[in-house]
Amino acid sequence: MRRNLCVWVIGLALGLASCFPQKEKTKAKQPNIIIIVSDDHAFQAISAYGSKLMQTPNIDRIAKEGAVFNKAYVTNSICGPSRAVLLTGKYSHKNGFKDNENSKFNGSQNTFVKELRQNGYQTAWIGKWHLETEPQGFDFWQVLPDQGSYYNPDFLMMDGSQKRVEGYVTTVTEDLAENWLSKRDKDKPFCLVVGHKATHRTWLPNTADMGKFDHVNFPVPATFYDTYQEREAARVQDMTIDKTMIMGYDLKMFPAGQEVTDVNITRMNPAQRAKFNAYYQPIQADLEKRKLTGKALVEWKYQRYMRDYLSTAASLDQSIGRMLQYLDKNQLKENTIVIYLSDQGFFMGEHGWFDKRFMYEESFRTPMVMRYPGVVKAGTVSDHLVMNLDIAPTLLKAAGVDVPKDMQGTSFLPVLTDQQAKGRDALFYHYYENGEHAVSPHFGVKTNRYKLIRFYKRVEAWELYDLEKDPHEVKNLYGKPGYQQVTAQLKNQLANLIEQYEDEDAKKLMATSIPVRKAYN
Ligand code: CA
Repeated sequence: MRRNLCVWVIGLALGLASCFPQKEKTKAKQPNIIIIVSDDHAFQAISAYGSKLMQTPNIDRIAKEGAVFNKAYVTNSICGPSRAVLLTGKYSHKNGFKDNENSKFNGSQNTFVKELRQNGYQTAWIGKWHLETEPQGFDFWQVLPDQGSYYNPDFLMMDGSQKRVEGYVTTVTEDLAENWLSKRDKDKPFCLVVGHKATHRTWLPNTADMGKFDHVNFPVPATFYDTYQEREAARVQDMTIDKTMIMGYDLKMFPAGQEVTDVNITRMNPAQRAKFNAYYQPIQADLEKRKLTGKALVEWKYQRYMRDYLSTAASLDQSIGRMLQYLDKNQLKENTIVIYLSDQGFFMGEHGWFDKRFMYEESFRTPMVMRYPGVVKAGTVSDHLVMNLDIAPTLLKAAGVDVPKDMQGTSFLPVLTDQQAKGRDALFYHYYENGEHAVSPHFGVKTNRYKLIRFYKRVEAWELYDLEKDPHEVKNLYGKPGYQQVTAQLKNQLANLIEQYEDEDAKKLMATSIPVRKAYN
């Protein structure tokens, strides 16, 4: 009897062994994934990109221990659409979320997170979401409604309720992310997206970081006083520090004696409000005394913008540092991919602007760093053209999951790991929104040297830039003698990309001609 039992036990063990080893082996290879997505964080403000404005030691750490992407771009430079592209690996015209004003994300469509979940991953999204509909495909989510608030943010919960959490949003979001990680099912690999509100307008820093850059006088960018000659879309925008940036809402200058009604401020608790007042009220009092006008006033606004923005970015970098330390302490560093990126770039006074949207470099290009121990060599510097569109297929490849055929991005793992691999030679961009900030819808193509843009709806015009000779994009060469051949080649490349990505709207617009340089008459 005992012998029979023994044989039975051995048989069972062998049977189990033959059932499970394959699965266990596959599981062991699947890396955990953490994507940290910030909002409107400019590469100009990150020391891994050579910024002289401030130091970001924690973002730099990801770059040092992994890769920095010098040429990472977005397909549509605005908040909601960028997140929809990240999730779906598809352009806006395919995933349906074209702009922040009219779009709602169709959550029933496929995403890389759903694919990971079907293949054994535990999934979560915490923080800024901004896709209007409820998240789908996540085991857990807790997201900010719409843009969310910097202080004492409300969160939408999975049970349909709304919950206010006391504290500063960047710290709170990191707390929630670590809390979820601690409670997760440790037998499964995980994919966690941490969505930060920082550094979105109105750049409201944590009280601890207020005044951090007051000793610095920031030089204005070379194009700060741009006059937008021969660039009609740049001329008609409404996003200048001079005219668009608001003294109260943006720069927190509330005249003494007047009641502050701005909800970003009135939602602070008494302790937060006392610190806010102690910092901003003397600045307001000093400004009133100075009676600045003209250039002096614009440059004062620029200094305040930089100081608030960079102080807000400081706590973002600190929270990224906390996440890296959490991974260190919990033995998760070696088997976790960490990607940090912004949803797009941002103007830090270039062309006199704040905000994003344009296909010009500062907003089109996004910061992106990635750590993937054992696969991506520490200190990798990538000059390949990559897009936020590529993140979904990259992560599916890393997890050993088949990439759905209708995903339009391409995994960037080959260009990181194989010196012979050839990446993209051109990028396709399409921006749709035609409302706030008056940026005309446009689409275009960028190669390593040139950029060709077609504006439509608000402005009908083409623009051409030679990025080698004119990195600030102030000399529109479209229609100029000597550029016919380059223009024809770029139009051909653009038409091919439109065909490849099946952008029917752009295709129709390509077929309609507009008089050369019509806009400048
Ligand atoms: Ca954004």
